[in-house]
This record gives sequence, structure tokens and C-alpha cells, in this order.
Amino acid sequence: QAKAEGRNRFCFYTREMGLETAKQVNLESSLRQSLGSARYELYYQPKVDATTHHICGVEALLRWHNDKGEIQSPMDVIPILERSGLIIEAGEHMIHQACEQLAQWQRKGLYLNFALNISARQLLNSNLVETVQRAILQSGCNPSYLELEITESVIMTDVKTALDKLIKLEALGVRIAIDDFGTGYSSLAYLSRFPTHILKIDREFVKDLPWNKDNIAITRSVVELAHNLNMRVVAEGVEYDSQEAFLSQIGVEEFQGYLFGKPVPIPLFEKLYLNVSPEAVF
Ligand code: C2E
Ligand code: MG
Ligand code: MG
Ligand code: MG
Repeated sequence: QAKAEGRNRFCFYTREMGLETAKQVNLESSLRQSLGSARYELYYQPKVDATTHHICGVEALLRWHNDKGEIQSPMDVIPILERSGLIIEAGEHMIHQACEQLAQWQRKGLYLNFALNISARQLLNSNLVETVQRAILQSGCNPSYLELEITESVIMTDVKTALDKLIKLEALGVRIAIDDFGTGYSSLAYLSRFPTHILKIDREFVKDLPWNKDNIAITRSVVELAHNLNMRVVAEGVEYDSQEAFLSQIGVEEFQGYLFGKPVPIPLFEKLYLNVSPEAVF
């Protein structure tokens, strides 16, 4: 009987795995077919200055429209793009789109910092430096407002290549942000050898502030060390006034989170956040 059960269980698992794999394969082919189309869209989430509460920047986040026309979470999409290598081509389109948008705002006199996420493959296995350089030149944007967000774990995957690429990117005039800081295992002192300008504290640490004693201690010392290393600190996932108050008190310069605004498509972003006279916003 145990044997029969074992066999059944085996069948059950393989069928499940088969379905999972089939879903992934379908998703991947759909992602491939739609490369370069409007089904790849960037949503924009505001970043707010801690002292003035004015919008000082924006993070562009990928939203992909699936075959049913629904938005598929980047949590599903990014790992498939990354594993299949499609992220390199998809990323190129996004970099060009981002620089075009940045240039367009700058021509209107709107000077926002513009953050874009860069994945492992993009940084380590592609001509990222050339791509970014081309996008800057073609769009005519001022690159000092462009921020490339690289996660701590990506830097640690291949320290030598990462350092080499980041130095070249910095030379183009863009700024580098360490994303999701605290979720990896490296120390900030170690990462200080990298040309990084901004540190983003991961939502994981912000989530249960200001109650969790460990996270209070961690965020405090991370902010202090980042400041000693001349980095600006951004807190992500800020949802409550109490979190904002604590983070503000310990010296965090910028906030990003649902308390200030969710990621939205470009027309809505401009309507909600930029449809005010520039004097009033900045
Ligand atoms: P991330 O770069 O850390 O982006 C922040 C994520 O937190 C976003 O999720 C954002 O929607 C979410 N978020 C912001 N504020 C709050 C909040 O107050 N509460 C909660 N619960 N969540 C908040 P999203 O858009 O689902 O993106 C997930 C991750 O996917 C990003 O994390 C980033 O690592 C990756 N990603 C997104 N777009 C791109 C892209 O264009 N290229 C690459 N390579 N990765 C991307
Ligand atoms: Mg990010
Ligand atoms: Mg982040
Ligand atoms: Mg995060």
C-alpha cells in the first residue's frame, strides 16, 4: 500500500512539475514574442524628499501585459527574463525608453532623479556600458539625473566584473544605487570600495518599524555608516506615518512607498505629480 501511495505521489509531483514547466515555457515564448512592443511598459513610483516632502525622483518599474491583457507581476516576469537571457534585449528597450522620458521631462524643466533597475545578466553579461552610453547620446538627456539600481547580491556574484562595469558607468555621469540593501550578506564597509552614491534600505527592514528592536538598530547603523561614506539613503516600502517619522528622525533623505504613491503609468504619474507649476513641486 505504501508502495502504491509512493507511486501515486510520484505521479502527482511529475504532473504538477510538468504543468509548472509548461506555464513557464508559455510565458517565456510570450515574453519573447512581445519584445519591443508596448506590452512592456514602465510604471513610475515617486520618491519624496524627507524634509520638503516634494517629489525629488522616480523609480521606473517594469509592467508586462500577458496574453489575457492583465499585468503580470515582475516577480514572475523578471526571473524568466533573467534565466532565458531575454532580459538583455528587454532591458535595452527599457534603458532607451527611460532616457527618452528623462530627456522629455528635462526639456520641460522638470528635473527629477530617474531610477532604473538593472539585473545580474544585464550588468555582468551584456554590453550595458555601451547601451547606456548610446541611450544617453540618442536621447540627449542629462545623465547626472539617471540612477541605476543594482542589488547587493548582483555585485557579490562577480565582484571583479561588477566593479569594472560600475566604474565605467560612473564615468558616463550616471549614479549608482545599491538596491535592497540588507538582504544580502555583504557589509557596507566592503561595498564602499564600489562607486556607489545611493543606498536603498530594503522594505524588509522598514516593514515593522518602529516596533522591531533589531530593525531599529540595523537601520540606525546602516544610515550612519552610509552617511559616513557620503551616500544618500532612500527607504523603500514606507507605508505608515510612524515609519516615516522614525526614518526621518534617523536621517534618511528620501522615501519611497505606498504612503506617498504606488507605481502608476506615465500619464497618471504626470497628472498626479507633475501637473503643478515647477516652482510648486520643487
Ligand atoms: P525593487 O527595485 O526593490 O522595487 C521596489 C518594489 O517594491 C516594487 O515592486 C514596488 O512596487 C514595491 N513597493 C514600493 N513601495 C511599496 C510599499 O509601500 N509597500 C509594498 N508592499 N511594496 C512597495 P515591483 O514593481 O513588483 O518590482 C519588484 C522587483 O522587480 C523590483 O524590486 C526589482 O528588483 C524588479 N524589477 C522591477 N522592474 C524591473 C526592471 O525594469 N528591470 C529589472 N531588472 N528589474 C525590475
Ligand atoms: Mg529598485
Ligand atoms: Mg529596492
Ligand atoms: Mg526591494
